[in-house]
Amino acid sequence: MSVRVRFAPSPTGRLHVGALRTALFDYLLARNAGGANILRIEDTDRGRYQPEAEVEFIEAMAWSGVVFDEGPHVGGPHAPYRQSERKEAGIYAEQIDKLLASGHVYKAFETSQELDEMRTYQQINKLPQGYFGGDWRDASPEKVAEAEAAGKPYVIRLRIQRNKTIVLQDAVRGRIEWDSNVLDDPVLIKADGMPTYHFAAMVDDHLMGITHVIRGEEWIPSVPKHLAIFQACGWEPPIFVHCPVITGPDGKKLSKRHGATSVLDYRAMGFLPEALMNFVALIGWSPGEDREVMAPDELIQAFALSGLQPSPGKFDFDKLKWMNGTYIRNMTVPGLLQKLREFASGDGFEAFWAGFVPEDGQPPIVQGEPARVPARLRALLDLADRDPDYVLRAIELEQERVTTLADFGDACAFFVDVAPEMDPKAAAKWLGQEHVPALFSYMQSKLSGSVTEADCEAWVREYQAAHGFEKLGPLVHPLRVALTGRTAGPGLWELMALLGPDRMRTRLTAALG
Ligand code: GLU
Repeated sequence: MSVRVRFAPSPTGRLHVGALRTALFDYLLARNAGGANILRIEDTDRGRYQPEAEVEFIEAMAWSGVVFDEGPHVGGPHAPYRQSERKEAGIYAEQIDKLLASGHVYKAFETSQELDEMRTYQQINKLPQGYFGGDWRDASPEKVAEAEAAGKPYVIRLRIQRNKTIVLQDAVRGRIEWDSNVLDDPVLIKADGMPTYHFAAMVDDHLMGITHVIRGEEWIPSVPKHLAIFQACGWEPPIFVHCPVITGPDGKKLSKRHGATSVLDYRAMGFLPEALMNFVALIGWSPGEDREVMAPDELIQAFALSGLQPSPGKFDFDKLKWMNGTYIRNMTVPGLLQKLREFASGDGFEAFWAGFVPEDGQPPIVQGEPARVPARLRALLDLADRDPDYVLRAIELEQERVTTLADFGDACAFFVDVAPEMDPKAAAKWLGQEHVPALFSYMQSKLSGSVTEADCEAWVREYQAAHGFEKLGPLVHPLRVALTGRTAGPGLWELMALLGPDRMRTRLTAALG
C-alpha cells in the first residue's frame, strides 16, 4: 500500500515551528516513499475557529517548501478537505448511524448540571474521573426513545469495551498498553451535531486511506480512544508516529525566549526556507550519519521513520542562524541580490519590522536596530539600481558576515550612506590618537585615480615602516573607523578598494574634522 500521510491542523492561530516540523516529516516521508501528502483542515471546534488561519497555514507551508498533493487549496479525490464541509456532506453522520445500529455508540442525555454533579461526586470520593456510562450506557431503548421524543439534547458516546488491553505499537515510542477499564466513554458527536476531533479525525484518516499518523506526542493519551474508534468501526488503524516535544536548549517549554516563533515570522526575519527546513528536520530526527547541511532533496532521500528520536528535540536558535548563514554563503552574489529584492518587497516584511517588539529575554534577531531594517534595505537596493557593480561587491564582502537577509541592511549601511554613522565609542578610542591626522593626510595624498587592494595595503605598510610602528593595529583601526564608523567589518584593503578614492577622501576629511 502506498504511503499516505496527512497534516491536520486546527485553524486556531498562526503556524508555529513545532507544527511545521510535523508537516515536514509528513512531506519527507511521503516524498521519500513516492506517496501522497494531504492537508486536512480540522475546523469542527467553531468556538476557537479563526478564518484567516487556514490562509496563513497554506501561505506558510508554500513558503517553507512543504508541498501537498491533496487539500482544500488543491482539491483531490477525497474532497472536501475541511471537516466543517465534510460534516455538511453527511460523512460523519453516515458513520455514526452505522455505529448506532451496531450498538458501538449510544446517546447520552445528561445535562451539564448532571455532569458537574457526577464530577464532584467522583472528586469527593476519589473515584476515577470521567464518564463511565452514567444513566445511558445501558438504558433501555424505550427510555432513550422517550428522552428523544421529549426533545432532550444529547451527545453520542463511544461504548468503550470493558476488560480489554488496548495496545499501541508506536513507530517512535514502541509498545504502550492501556487497560480499557480506565477509559471513559468519549463523546463522538456533540449536542450541536458537530463531530468531536477524535471522531472526525479517525473517520477521515480511514476514509482518506491514511497509512501513517505523524503528530506530537501530546496526542498519546488520546490513542486508546482513537484505537477504540477504529475497532468499533471495524477498520485497520494506521501506523502511529508520535514525535517528541520540542524544547529550548535549556530543556524548558519552547517559546519566543528561545527565538521560536511563527513560520511566517522567519520569512520576515530573513531566513531562507531551505535553511529553516533543514534546521527543523533535524529537531528530533537524525539521518544517521554526521550530516547537517542538507538540501531539501537530500532530506527527502535520507528520511526514514527509524531516524526519529524518542528524546525531546532541542530548538537551538543559534544553530538556525548558523545554518542560514551557511545557505547564504552558498548563494551566488547576483542570486543573493535578487533574493534581497524579493525579500524586501515580500508580503508581511514591512509590517513585521514596523511592529517588532522583542519579548523579554528574546535573543537578537537582526544585526543593528530592528526598526531600521526596511529603510536600510531599501537604500541598499535603490543604490543597486544606480550602481549594481558597487552593491554586488558590497554584498559579496558582507556575505561572509551575515546570518540572515535582514542583516544586509545594517551590514552594508556604511557602503551606502554618504557619511557613515560613527560608533561614538570607536571614534573616541581611535580617532583622537596623536598620530592619526598625519596618517590620514598621508593616505589622502595617495588617493588619485583608481585604487586597488594591493595599493591600499602597500601604502599603509610603507607608512608603518617609515614611521617605526611595530604593529599595524594603530594604523588600520583608525582608518577602519574613519571609513566605516565601526571597529569590525570586512577586510580593510578590500573595503578601501571598493569605497574608492572619492568616498575615502571625503570620509577621511570628515574624520579629521
Ligand atoms: N487537529 C489536531 C491538531 O491541530 C491534529 C491532531 C492529529 O494530528 O491527529 O493538533
